[in-house]
Amino acid sequence: MSDTVQRFSAVEAKIAAAEREAGREPGAVTLVAVSKTFDAADIQPVIEAGHRVFGENRVQEAQGKWPDLKQAFPDIELHLIGPLQSNKAREAVALFDVIETVDREKIAAELAREIARQGRAPSLYVQVNTGSEPQKAGIEPREAVAFVARCRDVHGLTVEGLMCIPPADENPGPHFALLEKLAREAGVEKLSMGMSGDYESAIAFGATSVRVGSAIFGSR
Ligand SMILES: *Cc1c(COP(=O)(O)O)cnc(C)c1O
Repeated sequence: MSDTVQRFSAVEAKIAAAEREAGREPGAVTLVAVSKTFDAADIQPVIEAGHRVFGENRVQEAQGKWPDLKQAFPDIELHLIGPLQSNKAREAVALFDVIETVDREKIAAELAREIARQGRAPSLYVQVNTGSEPQKAGIEPREAVAFVARCRDVHGLTVEGLMCIPPADENPGPHFALLEKLAREAGVEKLSMGMSGDYESAIAFGATSVRVGSAIFGSR
């Protein structure tokens, strides 16, 4: 077994243990294996080990490696977890199965247009900037519930979940709790939160998916 596949299996086992500990259903949490900066040769062993859900943070980088992998393994589910520029909406709708970073009106409008044009509808999550960090993407927490409603009522989009990246230097717990509360208020079910350093905590706070990169693929 490759080192990557060993680390992948260890993460899966820790997710299962965290589900049990939190009283969650087995399999309640989806592992999004974040493969950014790694190439197809690094990713393929994890696919061959049976995993199908992956995350990338750049549209252009993903276009370089995923079309071939998706052709070879058609049940792959690819998540966009990085900021989306509106001039990349066309490519993003064509390639990704879940877009986790809807965070402003212009992107919502552009995605709605592309979904209608292509007849292909990725699942959509709204990214919330739970720490209100100026350099970080995501909608402000106080605007999140209304924005989800506008995605539905103005743009005809179905938002299935919320996503956050807590500030690197803070205890993530309160950010996970805030995202869970906003999801309840907005009436959405999916919660994408938790990365290599804090995914077990995120599971305790109700994450339905965790985005784990370096703990599987190694440091970048
Ligand atoms: C890179 C990245 C991750 C994975 O981070 P690790 O700490 O390597 O697990 C998760 N979410 C987003 C949005 C990322 O860009």
